[in-house]
Amino acid sequence: VKYVVAVRPLCEFTARSGDLDRRFMAAPSAVEGMAGHRAVVATRGPAYESEIALSGTHGLVTVRGRADGHDSSARRLEEIKTHRGDVARITAHQRALHWAQAKVYGHLLCAARDLAALDVALVYFEVSSGRETVLVERYSAAELEDFFVTQCERFAAWAARELEHRQARDLVLETLQFPYGEFRAGQREFSKAIYRAARNSHCVLLQAPTGIGKTMAALFPMLKACGTSLDKVFFLCAKTMGRVAALEALAHVRKSAPALRLRVLELVAREQVCEHPGAACHGEACPLARGFHDRLPAARGEAVELGWLDRAAVRDVALAHGICPYYLGQELVRWADVVVGDYNYYFDSNGALYGAMLSDGWRVGVLVDEAHNMVERARRMYSAELRTADLGVATAQAPKALRPPLSRLARSLAQIAAAQEAGYRAHQQVPQSMMSHVESAVTALSEHFVDEAEPAEKQLLQCYFDLLAFQRLAENLGDHSIFDVSVTGNDAAFCIRNVVPAPFIGRRIAAAQGIALFSATLDPMAYYTAMLGLPQDCAQAKIPGPFRAEQLDVCLVGDVSTRYHHRLESLGAVVAMMARAYRARPGNYLCFSSSYEYTRRLEARMRMDHDGIPVWGQAPDMGAQEREDFLARFARGGRGIGFVVLGGAFGEGVDLPGDRLIGAFILTLGLPQVNAVNEEMKRLMQARFGEGYNYAYLYPGLQKVVQAAGRVIRSETDVGSVYLVDDRFQRARVRSLLPEWWRVRMLSSSPQARD
Ligand code: SF4
Repeated sequence: VKYVVAVRPLCEFTARSGDLDRRFMAAPSAVEGMAGHRAVVATRGPAYESEIALSGTHGLVTVRGRADGHDSSARRLEEIKTHRGDVARITAHQRALHWAQAKVYGHLLCAARDLAALDVALVYFEVSSGRETVLVERYSAAELEDFFVTQCERFAAWAARELEHRQARDLVLETLQFPYGEFRAGQREFSKAIYRAARNSHCVLLQAPTGIGKTMAALFPMLKACGTSLDKVFFLCAKTMGRVAALEALAHVRKSAPALRLRVLELVAREQVCEHPGAACHGEACPLARGFHDRLPAARGEAVELGWLDRAAVRDVALAHGICPYYLGQELVRWADVVVGDYNYYFDSNGALYGAMLSDGWRVGVLVDEAHNMVERARRMYSAELRTADLGVATAQAPKALRPPLSRLARSLAQIAAAQEAGYRAHQQVPQSMMSHVESAVTALSEHFVDEAEPAEKQLLQCYFDLLAFQRLAENLGDHSIFDVSVTGNDAAFCIRNVVPAPFIGRRIAAAQGIALFSATLDPMAYYTAMLGLPQDCAQAKIPGPFRAEQLDVCLVGDVSTRYHHRLESLGAVVAMMARAYRARPGNYLCFSSSYEYTRRLEARMRMDHDGIPVWGQAPDMGAQEREDFLARFARGGRGIGFVVLGGAFGEGVDLPGDRLIGAFILTLGLPQVNAVNEEMKRLMQARFGEGYNYAYLYPGLQKVVQAAGRVIRSETDVGSVYLVDDRFQRARVRSLLPEWWRVRMLSSSPQARD
C-alpha cells in the first residue's frame, strides 16, 4: 500500500521553513488565481500543454499532481504562481517552496516523457497589472530525480505513520457500532440516507424533527463511509451551539471506540483565537509567526498524537511550541479525520476547507447542520456594499497621492445617487463608469498597501477590502443578484445583493464526495433545492419524528389580526387570550412577535391587565451573559411569559426541555417586511422561479414559525401547547407548510366563544 500525496502538500511538508507570512495584502482569490493561470496559458504557443496529470512513486510515497504547463518545443516546464503587488515581496522562503514544487513536477515530467534535461520555470503573474516575472533554471533528469527522492524520504516516516493511522482507523470503523447503543425512532432512517449519499457520491436533503439526535445520526454514517469511500468528514455549522453539539457527539465516539484514535479538529475564527490582536500575521509583527514553519513539525507531530484538537487543545499545543494557534489549526485540517467549523470555511468564496479539498484531491463527506440557515448565510457571503460615507472617511485618511482616484470614485457615486429620484432603485448592471473608477481605486490602493508592512489607516484598508469584494462580485453579476442603490440623506449605499446563492453554492455542493444538508425545517424542499443549487439527482427525505400529536396542543386563533395596522386594536384580546391559556395551565411560555416595539407593547399590556403573571422581555443587542440570564428564568417548575422577537436569538437553537417551556404563543407569520429591497427580491424570484411571493416572504417566514414552535417539544415525554395567533394562519397555503404531525384545532380569542 502506498501513501498518495499531492505535490503541494508534499512540498509544504518538506520544503517550507522560516516565518509565517500572511500580510494584510489581499492575496488573489481562487477565481483570480484561475483567471491568472488562464491568462498566462493564453499567451503561450501551440506547442504548449497545460494541466498535465503526472505521478511518480518512491518507497511508499506516491506523488501526484497536475503540472501547470509545458512547452515541448522549448523543453520548458512552468509552475505558475499568481500574486498581488511587487514580486520582490515574495520572500526567499516562499520562493524556495515554489521551486520545490516546480522541481518535483520537473522530475515527474522527465520520468513520464523520458527526458534527459529540462528548463524549469517559475512564472509569477501579478493579477492587477497582468505582469509576468519568469525565473528559469536548467536541470538534468538525474538532478531532478535526486531532489524528488530527497523530498519523498523526508516525508516517508510521516507517510508511514499516516498509513498506519488510516488502516487502523478504517479497520475499527468497519465494525463500529452506533455509539448510543440502539437507534432512536427516526435515527436509523436518517443515518441510512446519509450513508447512501456518502457511498454513492450523492447529495441528500433531510428534514428530521428536533429531538431524534440528528448530530450523532449524521456523523455515524459519514464515519462508517470513511472506512471505504471517504478520506475525511467536514461538519459545518451555522452557530456555536452546532459546533458544541458536534464536538460532544465526537467525544462520545472517541470514548466508545478508543482504538479508533479519531482525529477531531475544531476550527475557530481568527479573531477568536488570535493571541496578538491588532498585530499583523508575519514574523516582524507577531512573535507567534516568527519561525512558525521551523517549529511547526514538532507541534504537528504532538497534535496528531493527541488526536482531540478542540480550540483549547490546539491553543495548548501551539503555545507550547511558540506558534500561532489559528494557523496551526489551519495546518491540521490536512491531518484531521473530522473537521468541525462554520459554514464559511467551505462555502465562502475563500473557504479554506473547500480550497484544500480541491487542491489536495480529498474525498470528503460534508454535513451541513441546521441547513435552513444556508440561504441567508450564503447570500451574505456573496453580497458586497460600498457606502459613500465610508468612502469619505477613508479618503480623509488617505495620503495625498491616493485622494484623486478615491475622489473620482466618490464623484461618480454621487452622480449616480443624485440622478435617482426615488430613495431606492435596482439596476440591471453596475454602470461601466462606476466600475472603471472602482478599478482605478483598487489599483491605486493595491500599490499603496503593497509597501506597507502594517497599515495604520484601518478605514482605508477596510475600504480597500470592500472595493475588492465589490469588484469581484460585479464581475460575476447575473440574474442571481441585484445591484441596487439606496439613498438616505447624505449617504448612499451601492449594494450587490445576492438573492439566489445557487450558482455559488451549487458548485461547492457538487464537489463533495457525499453531502447531507439537514434541519428540522426544510419545507418546502423545492425552495431549498432551487436556492442552494442542489443537483437534479439530490435525494430528499422527511423523517417522521418520535413525537405524538397528543404531546402538542396546536391552537389556531384565527379571529384576530396581528398585522401592523390591527395590532393596537387586537392587543387587549390577544393578551387576554394568552392570560387565559396561562391560567388554565400555569408554567413557562414564550411569546414570539414580529418586532421589539410589538414585544414591548404586549409585555406592558400584560403587566397592566394581568399583574399576577410574571413577564420578562428580550432587549435588542443582548450580550451572551444577558441571553443566558434571560434563559435562566425558564427554570424547572417556573412560571411566566418571556416576550421575544421571532427570528431573533431565542427563535431557534434554544433547548428548554421538560417544564422549562410548556407553551409558545406565535403572533406573527414571520413574513419579512414589505419594503423596496424585498419587493425587488420578490420580482427576481418571480422571474426565475415563478413563485416570487412564496420565495421572498412566505417560505422564509413560516420556516421561522415552525422553528419557534419547535422549542416546545424537545423529547418524547414533553407535552405542551402552541398558539398560532392571526387569521392568516387559516389559509390553506399556510396550513400546508405546518408540520404534518400537528393536529390543529381552532380556538377563539374571546372567552365566551371558547369551547
Ligand atoms: S497570533 Fe494573531 S497576529 Fe499572530 S500570527 Fe496568529 S493570528 Fe496572526
